[in-house]
Amino acid sequence: MSKVASPLVATSRLTIDLGSIVRNWKLLGLFTPDAATGAAVKANAYGMGLEPVTAALDSAGCRHFFVATPGEGIRARKVAANAEIFVLGGLTRENAAFYQEAGLIPVLNDPGEIEIWAERCRQTGNRKPCALHFDTGMNRLGLSESQALQLAADKARLHSVSPVLIMSHLACADDPQHPMIDCQKQAFDRLRAVFPGFMGSLANSAGILAQEGLGYDLTRPGIALYGAEAIDSTVGPMDSVATFEARILQVRHAKKGETVGYGATHVLARDSVIATVGAGYGDGVPRAASGDGVPLRAQFPGAVGHVCDKDVPMIGRVSMDSCMFDVTDIPAAQLEKAEWIELFGENVAVDDLARACGTIGYDILTGMRDRCERVWVG
Ligand SMILES: *Cc1c(COP(=O)(O)O)cnc(C)c1O
Repeated sequence: MSKVASPLVATSRLTIDLGSIVRNWKLLGLFTPDAATGAAVKANAYGMGLEPVTAALDSAGCRHFFVATPGEGIRARKVAANAEIFVLGGLTRENAAFYQEAGLIPVLNDPGEIEIWAERCRQTGNRKPCALHFDTGMNRLGLSESQALQLAADKARLHSVSPVLIMSHLACADDPQHPMIDCQKQAFDRLRAVFPGFMGSLANSAGILAQEGLGYDLTRPGIALYGAEAIDSTVGPMDSVATFEARILQVRHAKKGETVGYGATHVLARDSVIATVGAGYGDGVPRAASGDGVPLRAQFPGAVGHVCDKDVPMIGRVSMDSCMFDVTDIPAAQLEKAEWIELFGENVAVDDLARACGTIGYDILTGMRDRCERVWVG
């Protein structure tokens, strides 16, 4: 799927390489050869576009998709007619019918949800698959170990909901040395022993990359598909996927001692050339990326952009629709030809922008707003 860019109307754009997403998906599969490789496409496929990403992976042979909400599940279903679509949360008595109609597989997180699904299946006389989520230590979602053991002993109840998958989620796989990985693996193995014959799934992206033996039958990578860091501060083998650029709206010359932006927080230390670009927090550039005048700047420097083969520092505060870069060191003849400044992509890692903002790549990618034009290539 591709779309014609409309550079005449957008001042910020996110170019998404669907070919790279597919290549990353295939590469992840090589790490866990005995498991099927699924894909987490929740949160609009981490900002990359739920429908185009799901369609591309579906065509590449991905059979298992994970979304967070029933609404996302319905969107995924429209472009992946025959895939298994697992919805991680949000089953209620009121929306259980949607799941059945759209053929979505609810991931059941507690006895209440199991009751809802069992009742739904009984009422309609139509047993539809579900997944069981076990909490093995994260204390976020899922049946506790004792609840899971109770369910395993209650064969009638288990039969009434017809699970096709048992899963759990790792809390610390982004730190491969963390002892919690092994604790959770052991807990998951104990539960697999009392739920024999079910497909098992434990690993997210970091779980696939952190160590061998976490793949089980099905993996659930998200962030690594989209080319960002899964293991903390490790670039990893993934292809870059997304490029975020902002159009240069104006280049201005300012004198030493003058200030830049809201709050006059940046004082120019020299006569400077400033490029103002058309992306701000209304497009998804976090205000915390500001070069000056936000609390994090006491700890580490702000974001950098990339233009004419050079990194350029952001200066002053990020506004809603724009932000400013110090381009004094770019030769004027080159700058004249430049139209866009990259905020992340091939040259500036999304995780580096994230670090400048005190957050992680996931947060930046999922935070890209609709005003930023998305262009799908590959
Ligand atoms: C988001 C999520 C994933 C994908 O995680 P990544 O770290 O992005 O690979 C997998 N499983 C569950 C339960 C999730 O919530």
